[in-house]
Amino acid sequence: MFLRELTEPAGSLKGAGPETVRRLSGAAVNSIADLLCHYPRNWEDRVRAVPIAGFRNSPVNTVVRVSGHDWIGAGGMRTLKVYVEDDSGSASLVCFNRPFLGKKLTPGKFFRLWGRFFYKYGEIQSSTFEFEDAAEGGKGFGRILPVYPLSEGLTQGVLRRLVKDALDLYGPSLEDELPGRITVRDNLLSKKDAVRAFHFPSSMEELERARKTLIYEELFYLEIMVGKRAMERRAAVRNPAGPASSGAFSPLQTRLLERLPFKLTSGQTEAAAEINRDMDGAWPMARLLQGDVGSGKTLVSFLAALKAVEGGGQAAIMAPTELLARQHAENATRLLEPLGIRISFLTGNIRAAGRAPLLASLAGGGTDIVVGTHVLFSRDAAYRDLSLVVVDEQHRFGVTQRSLIMAKGDYPHLLMMSATPIPRTLALTVFGDMDVSVIRDMPPGRKPVKTHLAREANEEKVYSFVRKELAAGRQAYFVYPLIGGGEDGESGENGGLKAASSMAERLSRFVFPQYTTALLHSKIDEDEKQRIMNSFSRGGITILAATSVVEVGVDVPNATCMVVEHAERFGLSALHQLRGRVGRGADQAYCFLVYSEPPDAGSKGLPGAEKGPHNRDLFSSERSALTDGGKARLRIMLENNDGFAIAEEELKLRGPGQIAGTEQSGFLPLGIADPVRDAAELAGAREDAFSILEGDGDLKKPENRIVAEVLRRAPPFSNVAL
Ligand code: ADP
Ligand code: MG
Repeated sequence: MFLRELTEPAGSLKGAGPETVRRLSGAAVNSIADLLCHYPRNWEDRVRAVPIAGFRNSPVNTVVRVSGHDWIGAGGMRTLKVYVEDDSGSASLVCFNRPFLGKKLTPGKFFRLWGRFFYKYGEIQSSTFEFEDAAEGGKGFGRILPVYPLSEGLTQGVLRRLVKDALDLYGPSLEDELPGRITVRDNLLSKKDAVRAFHFPSSMEELERARKTLIYEELFYLEIMVGKRAMERRAAVRNPAGPASSGAFSPLQTRLLERLPFKLTSGQTEAAAEINRDMDGAWPMARLLQGDVGSGKTLVSFLAALKAVEGGGQAAIMAPTELLARQHAENATRLLEPLGIRISFLTGNIRAAGRAPLLASLAGGGTDIVVGTHVLFSRDAAYRDLSLVVVDEQHRFGVTQRSLIMAKGDYPHLLMMSATPIPRTLALTVFGDMDVSVIRDMPPGRKPVKTHLAREANEEKVYSFVRKELAAGRQAYFVYPLIGGGEDGESGENGGLKAASSMAERLSRFVFPQYTTALLHSKIDEDEKQRIMNSFSRGGITILAATSVVEVGVDVPNATCMVVEHAERFGLSALHQLRGRVGRGADQAYCFLVYSEPPDAGSKGLPGAEKGPHNRDLFSSERSALTDGGKARLRIMLENNDGFAIAEEELKLRGPGQIAGTEQSGFLPLGIADPVRDAAELAGAREDAFSILEGDGDLKKPENRIVAEVLRRAPPFSNVAL
């Protein structure tokens, strides 16, 4: 059996009653396979002896003699204390609710003891210990024990017992999933040994080998699946002749470019040419377009859409928020309709009556380009001939959503866009054989946004700075972490945080009474939201007090001030996106990151805060006692204007597995491997997988039999599109 074939319910194990089964399913453990893949998060090394005196560095693991008893507390609340000693020192065991232990732990007897100890009330104490008769040579000792991630109602004891039973029953029949030559070459373990040793290793060395085996196997199959998908895409030949395309602009594209008041940047030109070559190529395009906030990716996607339409197909441009989708639709209408292109705008908000004709026009081919949100792949959306899918802000979409929209066409071209750069290792893993274009330049005349840090107590200085900008005819955003007004689900109490709704009120009544302020957040009705945005972009509204709804895409060149309050609460990519809302016109723009101090404000400033090329700590007397993480993040914002650099820094700061945009479930469907941490293994696995597929695409050769069998009987990653 392959591990994934062990679909018997976990409840079939002895000792897994209905209550345990319910609790297991709460931890997504339903089958025996799930149970065996419920990997430990840590291990307790109970092989290595640690005397009492060593308690500070690790749990104690030693043989002790009981030296006496004592009782603390009074009456029915009395608690037993047992004194023990070994050669290195003495300690006490506090037996909360376990008075009966006195009968077992009788003075003079020897026990093997395991537990975490702390120095308390002048003695070395533990209340979480395990013991057994020293003579017994016991079960739980002298071994390395797994420590599982627990959830509601589950205990280590229950999980250890169940996993042990499952291993005893099913372990011996587990079949290898890696070709034998790889196992031998890399000195890996067989599958059955690896699974057993990962739960109950006999030594730390064996644990390491088990880990290496399971990680490699997971990455190997990930890359086999990625490679197979790449082959499928190439097999969906659109253009058999596959003439070498020059990537030159098509007639419609040329007409659009002639109508623009500006020229493409060289980054845009190069990306557009790469896309044109792909779309003329032999097989469907799969390209990721990266470019910093404001680099002009939308226009590049419009050029691609024109090419799709010229080829007789339809294009779908999908954005994660209604606000952004509407903005794209308006731009598309303004720029492309004059060229005779028929644009539709489709969002979940358009009700049945208005929707039916839109859907009909999409299905009938009356629409050339449809712009919208998630509804573009809803069940009732059908396309006559969807030939290009554009996914804007792709990190906001999950893998499943991407495959749903792709399924609306017959291998359509795919263009994904993001301002959140993805490290190459991740791009390789998650996006398979995606090609990447990067726009590295910005439209001319943009001045880098000047970033300033300010302590909340110095807010007045920020206000007066903003006031000058407003007096000069500019506009401003104020962003808060909460909506407020009871909309955050926490009645009234904001934990000292400023909220958008109350601040909108305060800004308009007290701070900037001579200007119009509007409130914008996700709970506001879409039509109202749109009225507000329109008015803001026409200048009817001067100040927008908002939550991070304004984070993606919003484009109002006359807004020159971005004030983010409680900036320490926002992630780096969010801060970068927010800052990207300003500096979109010719005027100098400013970003104020206002941070609040915890009550025990200390004396340390933000180290290095004044170093940035364009940025400085506006109020150099600033002092803060932010958490180290918060400090480091804000400092990165001061020192960097480039989204790629910020993403790299964020990667360093947050570590693997935490990269922006990969948090969504289903995005990285890995159980044990981490493509950043295990980058070297990933590269090796990819090489192995691809060389197998290149030499034997149908996996017919005897030496690849195992791989073929795995794919046939227990396909990995079957529930995600890679
Ligand atoms: P992003 O890459 O962040 O999606 P946008 O596509 O929203 O950026 O473009 C930002 C702004 O820059 C828009 O107002 C757009 O019209 C403008 N723009 C795009 N390309 C150019 C260019 N080559 N020259 C001048 N302005 C441009
Ligand atoms: Mg954009």
